[in-house]
This record gives sequence, structure tokens and C-alpha cells, in this order.
Amino acid sequence: MDVKNVKGTHDVYGEEANAYMEVENLMSHIAELFAFRNVRPPVLEYSEVFTRGVGESSDIVRKEMYTFTDKGDRSCTLRPEFTACIMRLVTQNKLYATNELPLKYYYCGPVFRYERPQLGRYRQFNQFGVESIGVNSASADVETIVLAYTILQSIGLENVTIKLNSLGDEETRNNYREALKQYFAKYIEDMCPDCQSRFELNPLRILDCKVEDDKKYIQNAPRIADYLSKNSKERFDEVKALLSALSIPFEVDDSLVRGLDYYSETVYEFHYTSQKGLNYGAVGAGGHYGNLMKEFNGPDYPGVGFSFGIERIVSVLTDDDLLPDVSNSLTAYVMPMDKSYVNSALMIASMLRVEGYSVDLCYEPSKLGSMFKKAEKKNSKYAIIIGENELESSTVVIKNMNTQVQETVKIDNLVDYLDELESSDHECDCGCGCHEDHECHCHEHKEK
Ligand code: AMP
Repeated sequence: MDVKNVKGTHDVYGEEANAYMEVENLMSHIAELFAFRNVRPPVLEYSEVFTRGVGESSDIVRKEMYTFTDKGDRSCTLRPEFTACIMRLVTQNKLYATNELPLKYYYCGPVFRYERPQLGRYRQFNQFGVESIGVNSASADVETIVLAYTILQSIGLENVTIKLNSLGDEETRNNYREALKQYFAKYIEDMCPDCQSRFELNPLRILDCKVEDDKKYIQNAPRIADYLSKNSKERFDEVKALLSALSIPFEVDDSLVRGLDYYSETVYEFHYTSQKGLNYGAVGAGGHYGNLMKEFNGPDYPGVGFSFGIERIVSVLTDDDLLPDVSNSLTAYVMPMDKSYVNSALMIASMLRVEGYSVDLCYEPSKLGSMFKKAEKKNSKYAIIIGENELESSTVVIKNMNTQVQETVKIDNLVDYLDELESSDHECDCGCGCHEDHECHCHEHKEK
């Protein structure tokens, strides 16, 4: 049977899988430093979580959802984004009742959108993101931007452009919507079918149209900055002032409208063009939302959050040679000299793994030389050899693959022996390879 992966999905393995793990761990670690806590909603939700009544005009909800009817005749959807899931999770479990505001959560996992696969665009991809719920302030918006920026800097993406805009409050958007309708009424017949339905449902979305022929109309459309209410303008000014005070660089881009409908006030995107010049689109994006929680029959709390596309981040890191250096090394590789010793090898491996050592074993014993080659390929620090003599005397031979020094050790003493070797084998900070921990006095160190 010749079966391939589903179109728009991709397999992750080898170095790339290491990179995903490292990037996700680092993001989680930094989110924890900012006092965000992990949540894990299911991949599968009832479709209403995303459709929420009528009037939804985002392409994601209208056209791109993987929706099906389950055997119980319920409409289910593979999540196309996380924010709605988090709102469902928070309101259903009444997390607002027992926790101080803002509620701060981060998440990571796959999302599904039936989009046209292309560079940086998959049908199943992974997002890492955060939501800060319950505080309506410029500082809560800015805290999420600082977090995202800190994460991007820490993984090595230093030249990130932050695009910032304000979509204003309801008053702003009502006035702006009217202005856009008046303006586009003259051109809409000549624009793409998507824009024609956007014109009816939500004319703001026209600004996000990617069709080349439509751009000439969009270019001269009214700008939202001219329609911001007094409150929204003050709020946006505060966001900009705070970002400047924190030395976070940003560009105001008043064409930024975002793909999901629930945003209001501050919205932002993170862009990075790799040194090869490939543009994968935004590596992350987010913003403030007002009514989402109320739509889930929760309290009328606003929120703000962003999500990163892990695929895009790993792609730019790969392009710019910035992938974290993760070698899948082992502490020990256990090599039975005969098939009948494989069980003993497994027992020794298990004993060491329980002590926190990463250990693999050879299931297909062969000549010693070729097993040593396997140990080298697996980047193992030690090889542990089990032969007939060893088993008879309840010992193993342990060989340091670097120094080639080997010793016979009683199996009962193996853990202590390894503990001792490992504790005396830390390298000094300068990387010269000597075994002094901090106070290194070696020649190379002095040279530096
Ligand atoms: P959104 O949920 O649309 O705000 O997207 C947040 C981030 O997810 C974007 O900035 C991208 O990095 C990433 N993303 C969105 N759609 C895709 C896709 N189809 N394939 C890969 N990454 C995506």
C-alpha cells in the first residue's frame, strides 16, 4: 500500500523535530517567566465554539474549517485557532471565579485550516500562544507584545518587525465600516467575489485582500486612524508610549486588520524576512478582543493574546542557520556480545535510565568493532560491553568513547561508578575542555 501524508500536512523528524521541541520548550519557559500558565484544550470542539451565532465573516470560519458530523449527529470541528477554545475552557470551568485577574494562559498544539498549501502555509500547523484575560488596559496589551518580542529575540530572531494598529472600539468600527462602504460602493462590482461578500459581511476585511487587481482600490481607501474615537485614540497612544518606554521597536501599519473577527483596539503582527530573502508571512500575530468571553456566556471580560506559527519560525531559523544545536547524545550505549545477553543489556539500561541517564542498547549484537561504530554514531559518551566473562562475574566493561579508557566494573557498582565519572566530568565555562568548573586556570583560558 502506497499511502502518503494528507495534502497540506507534513512529517517532522530528525533535526527538525529537535528544533520544534527546543523552540516550544523555550517559548513555554519564557511564558512561565511572565507568569502565564499552561492550558490544553482538546483538538476537537463543537463547531459552535468557532461559528458562534450569525455574522461571522472571517475566511477561516466561513471557508477553512475541517468540520464533520460525528456518529452522534453533532457538528464537530478540528480547531482552526486557539483563542475561542481557551474562552470555552475558561468559561466552562469558571476559572475566572477562583483566580486573580488577569487570567494568563499559554498553549501549544496543532491547528487545522483548509487553505491552499504554499510557502509557510499548511493545512495542519502548530501554534504557540498566550491569552491574558480580564484586564482592559494598554499595559495588558503591551505585556503580551513584550513577551512575544522576548521569545523571538531569545530564539535568535533579532530583526523582527512589529506591525501595530488600532481597530478602535465599537464606535470607531461602526463609523469606519460606513466610510469603507461608501468608498468601496463605487468599485465593488469590479473587485473579487471574496471582497463582494466581505462588502456585505464586514468591509474591514476587504483591506486584507491579497488579489493583485484589487490593491489599486484598497490603496486609497479611508484609513482607520482618521476614525478612532477619543477613547481608542488615547488607548492607542498609551500603547505606543509604553512600547517606546520599554525600547520595543514597532511600525504603525494602518492596513493591518487581522484574519479573525473578534479583534478590537490594539492589533499586531511579527514579521521576519530570512537572510535568503524568503518571506514566509507573519511569524506571529495577535491583538485585543472585547466580546469573546461574553459570547460564551461568561463574564464580560476583554482579553489580549497572540499566537506564533511554529512551522514558520522553524523555517526562518533553518534558513538563517539559527537552529538550536541539539545533538541527540547518549550517556551510554549497552553492547551485548551475543543475542542471549540482550535481556541483561536491557536490565542494565533500565537500571541506568531510572537514575536519569540516557541509555540505548544494541538489539542486534554483531562484531565489537561495528557495535562501537554504532555507539559513535549515536554520540554516546560511554560504551558498556557485556560478554560471557562479564556475565559470569556480574561485571561489565565500561569504555569512555572519548579517551578510550576502559574499566571492568561490578554491575552492582555501575551506577555509583558512572555518577562519579559524570560528576568529575564537567567542563569549565570557557569551553576549553578542562574539568575546572568555574575557576579555570588552564592555558587556553588564560589566553582568552
Ligand atoms: P492567526 O491565528 O491567523 O492569527 O495566525 C497566527 C500565526 O499562525 C501566523 O502569524 C502564522 O505564523 C501562523 N499561521 C497561520 N496560518 C498558517 C498556515 N496555514 N500554515 C502555517 N502557519 C500559519
